[in-house]
Amino acid sequence: MGLQRYAFNQIRMGVDTPIVVYAEREEQAVRACRAAYARITTLEERMSDYRAESELNLLCQHAVGRWVKVSPELFYVLWRAQTLARQTEGAFDVTVGPLVRLWREARRTGKLPDAATLRDAKARSGYRLLELSLPRRAVRLKAERMQLDLGGIAKGYACDCALRELRKHGITRALIQMGGDIVAGDAPPDSPGWKIDLPNSRNELLLKNGALSTSGSTEQYVEINGVRYAHIIDPRTGLGLTKLILARVRARDGITADSLATAAAVLGEPDAQRLERLYKGVQITVSQVRLNHSGQPWNGSHGRLT
Ligand code: ADP
Ligand code: MG
Repeated sequence: MGLQRYAFNQIRMGVDTPIVVYAEREEQAVRACRAAYARITTLEERMSDYRAESELNLLCQHAVGRWVKVSPELFYVLWRAQTLARQTEGAFDVTVGPLVRLWREARRTGKLPDAATLRDAKARSGYRLLELSLPRRAVRLKAERMQLDLGGIAKGYACDCALRELRKHGITRALIQMGGDIVAGDAPPDSPGWKIDLPNSRNELLLKNGALSTSGSTEQYVEINGVRYAHIIDPRTGLGLTKLILARVRARDGITADSLATAAAVLGEPDAQRLERLYKGVQITVSQVRLNHSGQPWNGSHGRLT
């Protein structure tokens, strides 16, 4: 019997997480995808900032001024995040948690934080306040009430881990999407790659053994006094991005694509191109988004599986 296509969808890390695989038998597809979703669940328990008891949140409580050993997965993600933070001089910064919390409050109340509140949150942010020790696989925080936020990097990494899990179950032709992050394994049997439909782009993209992430200010924002503040924070101002921008990154793996897309959205052109030169095999495109008369972006939004 030939390969059949099997598609699943579950919610993980707050977003739709479709997985599409080709397998000989349904039973194999089900077993593999169940394992892949379970792997993402484990990562969510480690990295979510929404769950009070996540490893990440416990770390924020217990690592002030002392080393706390963490799981290999959490350490790896923090290590990659800190590397990118240094490369972007803090444009990408997972210590923006206190500022993200203020943004969420602004979305709820429709009001920007006052100057003192913003200053206090900024004082508790900054990647230099987060220390990593490779030999101890441990983390230390230099300030009280810090909040780490892996929203700009964890989904891409979770897709990578899910793909590895599928491979362990003998499935190599697979595609995983979590919101704006897509990771592909080998191509489907009848095509040179997975067709990704990019909204308002004439080219549809063929993806295999690689990742594509989209990040921008068009999908999640709060509008206050006619200004849109996106859910991506500009660490320099402490507020959400106000420019309308869309960053798209192709990379070999999801963790790279996801984190670089968030970084590129903050950096804009031409700094994003400088970042491209640091990472082999990475392609970054940053575009300004235009709004049509109803205020909808017409070249925005995420790619979709077709
Ligand atoms: P999405 O989560 O919508 O796919 P991104 O991958 O760009 O989009 O991640 C945005 C998330 O990253 C925010 O919701 C927040 O959790 C986190 N974040 C916000 N600003 C930054 C920043 N400057 N650096 C790193 N992470 C950020
Ligand atoms: Mg990202």
